[in-house]
Amino acid sequence: MSRQRFDAMTESRKRERVGVEEKGRRSKLFGSNVFNKERMLQYLTKDALESVQGAIFSGSKIDRKIADQVAEAMKTWAIEMGATHYTHWFQPLTGATAEKHDAFFDLLPDGRALEKFGGGQLVQQEPDASSFPSGGIRNTFEARGYTAWDPTSPAFVYDTTLCIPTIFVSYTGEALDNKAPLLRALNAIDEAATAVAKYFDKTVVKVNATLGWEQEYFLVDKALAHSRSDISLTGRTLVGHSAAKGQQLDDHYFGVIPLRAISFMKELELECMRLGIPVKTRHNEVAPNQFELAPVFEEANLAVDHNLLLMDVMDRIADKHNLKVLFHEKPFAGINGSGKHNNWSLATDTGVNLLSPGSTPMKNLQFLTFFINTIKAVDTYEELLRSSIASASNDHRLGANEAPPAILSIFVGKQLGNVLDELEGVSKGKLSPEEKTELKLNVVGKIPEILLDNTDRNRTSPFAFTGNKFEMRGVGSKTNCAKPMTILNTIVAKQLREFKKEVDALVDKKSLKKDEAVFNVLREYIKTSKRIRFDGDGYSEDWQKEAERRKLSNNKTTPAALQVLTSKQSLELFASMGVMSEKEVAARQEVELEAYILHIQIEGRVLNELVYSHIIPSVIEYQNILIKNVLGLKEIYGAAHRKLTDGQSGIIEQIAEHIAELKKQVDAMTDARRKANKLTDTRKKAFAYSDDVKPYFEKIRMHCDKLEMLVDNRYWPLVKYRELLSIK
Ligand code: ADP
Ligand code: MG
Repeated sequence: MSRQRFDAMTESRKRERVGVEEKGRRSKLFGSNVFNKERMLQYLTKDALESVQGAIFSGSKIDRKIADQVAEAMKTWAIEMGATHYTHWFQPLTGATAEKHDAFFDLLPDGRALEKFGGGQLVQQEPDASSFPSGGIRNTFEARGYTAWDPTSPAFVYDTTLCIPTIFVSYTGEALDNKAPLLRALNAIDEAATAVAKYFDKTVVKVNATLGWEQEYFLVDKALAHSRSDISLTGRTLVGHSAAKGQQLDDHYFGVIPLRAISFMKELELECMRLGIPVKTRHNEVAPNQFELAPVFEEANLAVDHNLLLMDVMDRIADKHNLKVLFHEKPFAGINGSGKHNNWSLATDTGVNLLSPGSTPMKNLQFLTFFINTIKAVDTYEELLRSSIASASNDHRLGANEAPPAILSIFVGKQLGNVLDELEGVSKGKLSPEEKTELKLNVVGKIPEILLDNTDRNRTSPFAFTGNKFEMRGVGSKTNCAKPMTILNTIVAKQLREFKKEVDALVDKKSLKKDEAVFNVLREYIKTSKRIRFDGDGYSEDWQKEAERRKLSNNKTTPAALQVLTSKQSLELFASMGVMSEKEVAARQEVELEAYILHIQIEGRVLNELVYSHIIPSVIEYQNILIKNVLGLKEIYGAAHRKLTDGQSGIIEQIAEHIAELKKQVDAMTDARRKANKLTDTRKKAFAYSDDVKPYFEKIRMHCDKLEMLVDNRYWPLVKYRELLSIK
């Protein structure tokens, strides 16, 4: 009998909650480990401070002398904070973060020791990172990549290391990470949105994209998680019968948070405060052991960094609390998976949210401009936006009950829908004074009131307008938000650029007034982007059919979803907005496809091992007990034993049938994997994995789950769902 499950359960039952002391006000703690403006004021000269602020605000270059000063100041501060090392913190295409620590400590030629950290080390580093995926951009024969300081995201001390956010690029300038394209996309949206915002307010000089993510996750006991190779190697359960009680009663959602989870959250929040991550809400989610955490929104690049840092901090703190965080989008079958809603908007340096209706008709026309341009952008590039959230793990969630489908659509609500319908009727060309007044008073002017009671919120919409922001709901819980944010900001930037061209043309060539021109262009956008608007039930079959009729893409698997990245339209978009070159896009597609293949491959291997080395041997052990029992009864009762052994024999046969089926399916899966591995074309291989290998997983699981219900609890080798999903 396998003891692993029972040992793990004994260990988990003995757990005490780890106490956390909360001292002082959180607002005092906030940002104490961050080299933020407050610290800069304290440690930098006026010149250096201005230079860094300039770089943050307008992307101006920081010269070497200033960099030396900044490095010196950062070092002094970091050492005071107890740091011994520094690292360039970057986001390779694996989706996670990477770091290589170097000590400040150095030796002089005469043997004296000192702490050293100069502008050179701050600005640029060359990690020996040749084994990060690069999609062929940087093979080992070429020059190595280097990391470069991103002054727009402040350095911070974590544990005993000064972490400096950086981009990761090749010597020929290609992005090898997720941050560099994001920064370029944010630059593009700044330029395009500022130009349009100036129609309404000439004093605007900068527009920031804002992002507020909502991180969902599961917590399970560490010992239980480690006892199952599927959880520790793939992040999800590949087999496991659902518990008799799951989420049917809805008693977990917003319920009392279990004590061990509360302790974990407290410590996590304190650490987040120190690191300047403005976490604000925490609550139970729908599924047992599922929780959510959300911050106050921030500038998108910073918000992305903070989400990545958060996930790392969560891992470490969970470990201290003898827990494991599952970020996988679907760790358990039959109950909800986890997502990471991305709330997105645009904010001017004058403090205006461009997706928030205002108090005057002009402000509302500005709102409508950004609102409708976003709709138009998503309509034009719906398939590309869908591709930005594609991953092996998110495939399980998109289209499952709790998450939006793989079809992109926009929810605007009934009242805003009515406003759009009315605007569609605006006259072509010049508007009469009466029409203008009517529009101002009764259409544009009414928007703020409309929004106040626009509370019906459609949970199944992948892209919903929620009053003063759009909420992208298909993003996976594990996903690096940089990916969807890069695409979203790029497509909206492109759209705003087109919009400005069209409006300017109407003003110059048709001598329309600016507001007339804006109404004219918006009217056409409303007409041509209607197919993307959908307020109904995203999972219904009717919608699937309707979406097909509307020619909206419905890519259900990652390999299918990733194809569009290298379409002519996408490549043209990325190049024209200065976000990615063809080479960079192709490399990313290659890396994502490879990641997909590896994930499915690992899952296949783990499943194979679970079945052959754990499940089959365990159920045979139990089957042997039954056989012994039947033989014993036969010995005692002779021919009359049949009546007494019917049940046992039935179970013996059922077990044998499942074993035979399991062997057949697992062997067939292994065959399919072998065939897929022979393919040299990454695209074909990814499709082979999704179409030929993956379908076996469900079949295999079905037999395992039936066996779980059939055999003596004491012989089942894997921690069961009800045991995993019951932290106190
Ligand atoms: P839920 O969607 O769970 O009901 P909310 O609608 O309150 O929760 O969403 C809250 C999230 O939206 C938070 O992360 C918050 O920071 C973010 N958010 C609010 N305003 C903006 C904005 N202007 N830009 C980006 N994110 C925003
Ligand atoms: Mg939300």
